[in-house]
Amino acid sequence: MKTIGYAASSATSPLVPFTFERRALRPNDVAMEVLYCGVCHSDLHQAHNDWGWSTYPLVPGHEIVGRVVEVGKAVSRYKAGDAVAVGCMVDSCQHCDQCHKGEEQLCREGNTQTYNDRDRITRDVTYGGYSKHLVVREEFVLRVPDGLDLARAAPLLCAGITTYSPLRTWDVGPGSRVGVIGLGGLGHMAVKLAAAMGAHVTVMSRTGDKKADALALGADRLLISTDKEAMAKAQSSFDLIIDTVPVKHDINPYTPLLDVDGTLVLVGQIGPLDPPTTVPLLMGRRRIAGSPIGGIRETQELLDFCARKNILPDCEMIRMDQINEAFKRLERGADVHYRFVIDMASLKA
Ligand SMILES: [Zn+2]
Ligand SMILES: [Zn+2]
Repeated sequence: MKTIGYAASSATSPLVPFTFERRALRPNDVAMEVLYCGVCHSDLHQAHNDWGWSTYPLVPGHEIVGRVVEVGKAVSRYKAGDAVAVGCMVDSCQHCDQCHKGEEQLCREGNTQTYNDRDRITRDVTYGGYSKHLVVREEFVLRVPDGLDLARAAPLLCAGITTYSPLRTWDVGPGSRVGVIGLGGLGHMAVKLAAAMGAHVTVMSRTGDKKADALALGADRLLISTDKEAMAKAQSSFDLIIDTVPVKHDINPYTPLLDVDGTLVLVGQIGPLDPPTTVPLLMGRRRIAGSPIGGIRETQELLDFCARKNILPDCEMIRMDQINEAFKRLERGADVHYRFVIDMASLKA
């Protein structure tokens, strides 16, 4: 199947139109027309080869919502016309202990990423959702429940699941005390999801500028991390802190805020940390942890939860040809509220 997308041809080149082939359907494949694709910070990092493993041409995009156009002979769960979604993974080994538990993101053999990775059978480079069509094996296709706005659902597939998974892993529920550091694409989802689970939610920020935004998203309060007195008062008052800041920063001011057995979970790939001080970790049996996206089962659970609770990301819709400008704004950081979503109808052959 011939299709069109947007690709970067090198670490320094802008994204431009790119025509390529999607594979012929295998028996367990679903072909979809992409309707919307979210713009994740990691799209920018990989287009620019910031992590050193990019292959070009590179078609980013792993927050994908669309409609099924065709299915392989052995596909039983989907049919043409179904509203579906694909996130950061398109395959895994399917036989290790983690895959059996539905934690394909932790597959012992490594999962196959939606783009900038290699197909497990052909070894062809995978191309993501900045494109008109996508072909993915049935097991990695999610169902978009009725009632979930297709145009705004896309960011749930990465920003949503990356924050939902730690909230579930650490059993957040009514009365849990949750802190969220950073109020971007991931942070704003963490606030909405934690609030919907009944948690008491605090946004942590260097200034008070984002207070109105934080409260509007569902937070109970804003804690200014540069206010020494307020930080001292907040010691030992959190069960879970989700750190969504996508660039290198010092986590030492935050660990004392955890209560006994509390966890600070990092969800951004930020490279080396400043040396963490062990005293607050030992004295409060506190933990620093990391968490990557979530499994397919949990991602479906998130989509169903958001449909039930009417939770949607705050999106700014863009045309495909505005992607390079969107990348620049994402790099600057401040003025995105809170996720760009590409309307794929704007991508013409
Ligand atoms: Zn992402
Ligand atoms: Zn596996």
